[in-house]
Parts: sequence; C-alpha cells; structure tokens
Amino acid sequence: MGLKKLNKEVVVTWLQERGVTVNDIAELVYFLQSNYHPELKMDTCVENVERVLSKREVQNAIITGIQLDILAEEKQLRAPLQEILEVDEGLYGIDEVLALAIVNVYGSIGFTNYGYVDKLKPGILKRLNDKTTGECHTFLDDIVGAIAAAASSRLAHGAFEE
Ligand code: MG
Repeated sequence: MGLKKLNKEVVVTWLQERGVTVNDIAELVYFLQSNYHPELKMDTCVENVERVLSKREVQNAIITGIQLDILAEEKQLRAPLQEILEVDEGLYGIDEVLALAIVNVYGSIGFTNYGYVDKLKPGILKRLNDKTTGECHTFLDDIVGAIAAAASSRLAHGAFEE
C-alpha cells in the first residue's frame, strides 16, 4: 500500500526540494501569532508546524499539489491545464480549494489566518509568488500559507486551553 510509505519525513523532503523548510513555515506562524502571544518562541512555532505535517490529510494535499506544480514546470500537463497552472491563472481556484483541506484540519480560525497571509504574502510566500524564476508554485504557495494557518490555529487553541 502506497499510503503506508507516506509520512512526515516524506513531505518535509518534498517541501525542501521545492525550496521550503519547516523553519520558513514556522516564521509565518510567528508572523501570525507573535502579536497575540508576546512570549512566543520560534521553537513553539516549529513544533506546531511539525504537528500539522504529521496529519495524513495534510500530507495528501502536499504531495498532490507539489506533483502538479512539478508537472507544470516540466510542461507535462494537457492543455488547457498546462497553461492555467503555468501562468497561475487567478480564476482557476483549485489551488485554494486543495489548501482548504489543510486549513480545515484545526477548525475555522485557520481560515482567517489563511486569508491574511495570502493577502500580505510575508516571508517565503513572497519568493514563491515571484513569477520571474521559471519555477511553478501555483499550488505550493497556497499549501505553505495553509500549513502556517493551521499551525497558528493549533497554537492558538493550545494557548486557550492552558
Ligand atoms: Mg496559488
């Protein structure tokens, strides 16, 4: 069974190969949460990102989105999907839909955070949205924003429980 071979280490490697580290995502979490939690440490952000990456639904979304980005970069997709992904067409919307599978893991608070990072595009998201690199990150930018949003929700819920 292929699913048994999918785990956190696999998706961390896939992300790294696409230029995204756990630390990059943790920095987005810090950006989202440090105003609400002045004592927040980067270690806590990293830990929450790692927990999100341990979820099977999240892993499924990551490998699916990254695979489509890679195929688009290699011009392996059929028309018209090839061009839609290559130019990151605004009306396509399925990249956001896939990312919602990640955002929803920790409930609706993640949704607000996701919209916020998607609008401001801080840190790693700025690089992923740079269209001059020849790389295609149509799915990955939403996936990374969604992981950060989900990790922020997890962190916020944890803080409330204490
Ligand atoms: Mg996108």
